[in-house]
Amino acid sequence: MKHLEVQALTKHFAPTAPPAVDRVSFGLEQGEILGLLGPSGCGKTTTLRMIAGFERPDSGDILLDGRSVAALPPEKRRIGFVFQDYALFPNRSVLNNVVFALHRKDRSVRTERARELLAMVGLTREQNRMPYELSGGQQQRVALARTLAAEPELILLDEPFSNLDAALRESTRRDVRTLLKCAEMSAILVTHDQEEALGFCDTVGVMHAGAIEQLGSPESIYLQPETSFVAQFLGRANLMRGHARGEVADTDLGTIPIVPATEGPVLVSLRPEHIELNRLTPGSTPDGGGEIVSREFRGHDLTYRVRFNRAEYIVHTDFTCDLTPGTPVRIVPRRPAVVLRETGLCGRSVVALSSIPEIPRWIPGQYASA
Ligand code: ADP
Ligand code: MG
Repeated sequence: MKHLEVQALTKHFAPTAPPAVDRVSFGLEQGEILGLLGPSGCGKTTTLRMIAGFERPDSGDILLDGRSVAALPPEKRRIGFVFQDYALFPNRSVLNNVVFALHRKDRSVRTERARELLAMVGLTREQNRMPYELSGGQQQRVALARTLAAEPELILLDEPFSNLDAALRESTRRDVRTLLKCAEMSAILVTHDQEEALGFCDTVGVMHAGAIEQLGSPESIYLQPETSFVAQFLGRANLMRGHARGEVADTDLGTIPIVPATEGPVLVSLRPEHIELNRLTPGSTPDGGGEIVSREFRGHDLTYRVRFNRAEYIVHTDFTCDLTPGTPVRIVPRRPAVVLRETGLCGRSVVALSSIPEIPRWIPGQYASA
């Protein structure tokens, strides 16, 4: 039996509009951290609010340890919620914020338990400060201590790191993951940040237009995306049309290996770091030769745009492959391209547009993150 089971949750806000959440199903083991990842407006918060009991589903069920909690009010579900904006009491000290959440415990043990929880989140020295005297990351850890104080079965985190600046976000994320794992706490993290989902979660569900489009380990959703949406939302991807013949496909890039093996017309995705560039002798442009259009130094890698056969490809290489624009190169896949099911496209990647005319161009801002 799963610790949490979400079964076909559906929610309409307006009868004529498409559902905000559309038959969302997934399971969660005890101690597992699951991510719901997707662009703004895809239904992540609504899903979380239905699990917490703040929103009533039109249909579907929510089982905690095999028992339906769908009819229970939020306070009876034993589910903790950590909000994006921390929601601390501004006029209570850090310690009292946590003590307040322990109101069900005997008065004599509250302060001691609150101190233990603050020690767990590394805020012993800050316990007598007021929330405004803390950094955003520290406030988020108080919020977590306060949520843990209620001894929930499950913690729901709605974009909890998005108000933190980049450096603090990374360390807070690491701390919170360690804390959840030490407490063997099951959790669901909602985020629009793919790096966060990949690094923080054991399992990730990629949401698109109210539905979960793919659910799997971070590695599998990144390396084996099933749809063009998933391929593009999880970083950059070169998408190409081609004709499959078993384990290879004929594409504008030439005949390249594909997974899984199939036959007939296909749309495939090749990650920029799964391509190698081989320099060709200047002047020679034999078959398979492209040209570097641009070079962007990004510290940890170099990003090239390479033109070949009227299409442009994006390629990430390490520091050993340093090429200037205009250099003739051969584009060589280092891994098989992944065959996709076609669905809506989003705009996080370079698409070899000339080779897939029926796919609309990315509209800037269409999938802007909240
Ligand atoms: P996300 O958290 O992924 O950004 P939400 O779950 O907040 O998405 O919203 C999903 C969709 O439902 C959006 O189109 C949003 O406008 C709509 N929505 C959310 N809450 C309400 C509400 N209380 N009333 C009407 N529409 C809502
Ligand atoms: Mg949201």
